[in-house]
Amino acid sequence: MELETGSKKHIVIIGGGFAGLNAIKVLDKNKFDITLIDRHNFHSFPPLFYQIASSGLDTGSISFPFRREMRHMKHVRFHMGEVKNVDTENKTVTTQFETISYDYLIIAAGTTSNFFGMKDLRDKVYTLKSVAEAIRLRNELLDRLERASITKSHERKKQLLSFVVIGAGPTGVEVAGAIGEMKRYIVPREYPELEKDDIKILIVEGADRVLRTMSEDASRHAREYLGHLMVDVKLNTTMVSYDNNIVKFADGEEVYCETLIWTAGITGEPIGGFDKSVYARGGRFIVDAFNKVKGYDDVFALGDIAYLESPEYPHGYPQLAQVAIQQARCLSENLNSGRFDKEFKYKDKGSMATVGRNRAVADLNKLHMYGRPAWFTWMFVHLISILGMRNKLTVLINWIWAYCTYSTSLRLLVRPTKYPYRGHWDLAKE
Ligand SMILES: Cc1cc2nc3c(=O)[nH]c(=O)nc-3n(C[C@H](O)[C@H](O)[C@H](O)COP(=O)(O)OP(=O)(O)OC[C@H]3O[C@@H](n4cnc5c(N)ncnc54)[C@H](O)[C@@H]3O)c2cc1C
Repeated sequence: MELETGSKKHIVIIGGGFAGLNAIKVLDKNKFDITLIDRHNFHSFPPLFYQIASSGLDTGSISFPFRREMRHMKHVRFHMGEVKNVDTENKTVTTQFETISYDYLIIAAGTTSNFFGMKDLRDKVYTLKSVAEAIRLRNELLDRLERASITKSHERKKQLLSFVVIGAGPTGVEVAGAIGEMKRYIVPREYPELEKDDIKILIVEGADRVLRTMSEDASRHAREYLGHLMVDVKLNTTMVSYDNNIVKFADGEEVYCETLIWTAGITGEPIGGFDKSVYARGGRFIVDAFNKVKGYDDVFALGDIAYLESPEYPHGYPQLAQVAIQQARCLSENLNSGRFDKEFKYKDKGSMATVGRNRAVADLNKLHMYGRPAWFTWMFVHLISILGMRNKLTVLINWIWAYCTYSTSLRLLVRPTKYPYRGHWDLAKE
């Protein structure tokens, strides 16, 4: 079925993350037809990617098919595809499959990992920017535990179980904490061939504290929690190279590591067709207070990929879900009214991070919480934010189960393969 046309304007949205999806919810169905383009056919929930990586949740619990979400929205169509280029003269967007015309374009494509010029790093490290990357890391962790369990050499066991996490922001801290929980609670029970000390987890940060965007108290508690989970912390240094399983740091230290998890930086998803002058640092589109991309009246950018300075945020708004959601609502209201009289103002609701069971930190404006209260608050906030009732229930049941049993039930090593069993032999030859 074709979209309804007539006098309605056609909005194309690139990206169905927090920003894209919230824009769709608020845009007036009587004024706009909308085409959402995303490279995946589902919306996902990045704050819980680390729980997929650590086998705490399955992918279906934090992902939601776009077509299901939009089944009652007659004015919205979903097109799967990766946007390669935008032609702003002819007002078209091109994916690998098709070219689509627009009246207004909203770019909400988010970010990808930034390797700061270390070109070959992409192929050597593990990242956590999509569901697929989280599954890849989960398989790597499970595979290493299995291989180490059947290895006779103690030295080789330690090599197989050497993990370094680069970047101690919320993602780095959460993933390091999750591996620490496996080391502390799961390995002693389910991998009798391994000792806790066979597993080495190191988290590295360039700043002088972990979670540097949160309060100093939150950083101190998070560091303490990492210590409880037997995660080593190295501060005030950056990684300069990773070759032949050796991580070299700016302070001269070298560490052996076979699994490097990179959470140290992000950059805007590359969208072709724009002049360099529209980009700020970090590959973000420079926008004004109405989220209009510099130099355009019909192209907008939202969320992580948008760069907007304000007196409170002279280096741009933080790349957080709440910013994306609030910007999407503000822009949609401006488009609905057509007046563009509402400037974007961020209402900071605070930030949180969890470092495993009963261990979390939360800075909620003037209220600072730690430990169990913060952990329950963290769970509640994430639970209500996940899309879909089925997903909320699945996540809740998984969390209750994990809380009662000190275990996660999803440690299944499933590799997609065209030829059954062949991949395993190839791996053994490595
Ligand atoms: C591991 C992790 C943990 C996080 N934890 C938190 C947290 O606890 N709290 C918090 O507030 N924020 C957190 N964030 C940040 C938060 O997820 C982002 O700020 C938020 O997702 C930004 O929303 P967005 O809509 O701008 O982009 P995204 O949610 O990233 O959505 C972008 C969408 O665009 C699609 N896309 C990208 N490029 C293309 C293309 N070329 N063509 C078609 N489609 C494309 C993607 O598939 C995706 O669906 C976390 C991020 C990560 C990665």
